[in-house]
Amino acid sequence: MMNWFFLADCSHVAVPKATEIAMRHYYIGNILWLLQLALSFVIPLLFLTTGFSAKLGKFSRIRGKYWFFSIALYLLLFIAIYQLISLPLDFYTEYVVEHEYGLSIQTLSKWIEHYAIWTLLFIVGAVLFVWIFYLLLQKSPKNWWFYSSIVAIAITFFITFISPIWIDPLFDTIGPMKNKELEAKLLAFASKAGLENSQIYEIKKSDETHMANAYVTGLFGTERIVIWDTAIKPNDIDGLLFTLGHEMGHYVLNHNWWFMFYYSIATFLIFYLTYRSSIFILHHYNKRFRFNNLYDIASLPLLLVLINLFTLLASPVFNYISRDMEREADRFGLELTQNNFAAATLFRNFALDDLANPNPGILYTIWRCDHPALKDRIEFCNSYCPWEQGQPLKYAKYFKD
Ligand SMILES: [Zn+2]
Repeated sequence: MMNWFFLADCSHVAVPKATEIAMRHYYIGNILWLLQLALSFVIPLLFLTTGFSAKLGKFSRIRGKYWFFSIALYLLLFIAIYQLISLPLDFYTEYVVEHEYGLSIQTLSKWIEHYAIWTLLFIVGAVLFVWIFYLLLQKSPKNWWFYSSIVAIAITFFITFISPIWIDPLFDTIGPMKNKELEAKLLAFASKAGLENSQIYEIKKSDETHMANAYVTGLFGTERIVIWDTAIKPNDIDGLLFTLGHEMGHYVLNHNWWFMFYYSIATFLIFYLTYRSSIFILHHYNKRFRFNNLYDIASLPLLLVLINLFTLLASPVFNYISRDMEREADRFGLELTQNNFAAATLFRNFALDDLANPNPGILYTIWRCDHPALKDRIEFCNSYCPWEQGQPLKYAKYFKD
């Protein structure tokens, strides 16, 4: 039923025109995104086609029964070289540009600290898990893709489960809300959506940016709603209530679980395609690559390129699914707050303060947008208010009076 479309009278917040500076930020962001994407293919391809990966594999080979350590040494060297090559572009994208446009106030030492922690975590994760895939490649040359998919899914579940408790605090200070009076208001509001005894977490971002955000994280009982302290403005809580309503929508509608479900299907598909194409490519280029077997750790860049490629091809579908979930979370937040003006104003301010382009192009939407365009979100807020016309609410069953 699209009848609310004809009753578009819920709030009258105009979609702002993208400012000149926002458009410049949009264009430079797209160029940097393309460069980073290109690098993620070029670096492993160079490792492969120059025979350097094979050399690195030989160099890392520790004689005797130290197969695991050979893999670990290769990974350590591979990641170190990879990070060194991509560091300048990462620094320019994440630090220089964001400061130039006034979006970040993060100190250089904090940026370096975060980058170093990420790299370390990445190395630890790679050393902990990659050998399992190589063992499967060795033991089951025909079915490794199937077992590897299961392992990859299990690892992702594990990381999603531990990240709110073990990983996120490595980067930021996260704790209960500081403003107890406000917390009580938010909790009373949360109980309207059936979230009794829940805890809302506050993450300190005010030393890094003025931008505001919130998210739901975790699985298997570690789920939590986290709000950036920059979004907490005690004198203007209407926008915050909508934000919380939106995040509770993700939570109540099990969006994390749905996402993991789609992710699991995609993982099987991506590993299967990687399996088929890697055999084909290795058969034709083994002389150039200077290794013959996929279970040789030197094949890592080949597997990375293929997984990267198929993930990239799947990303429009994932963005589409994510945009759909975001729209439903917006609907949930609107039905719960019934304050369309506050929601539309919040989105308008994203466009004005955070230099978001309210109406990006179709290519950008397909490849990069995991949220609906701000223009669509504002228009949705302006037009969706079934309660005004005595129409039923889509998510009424989740609400307590
Ligand atoms: Zn959301």
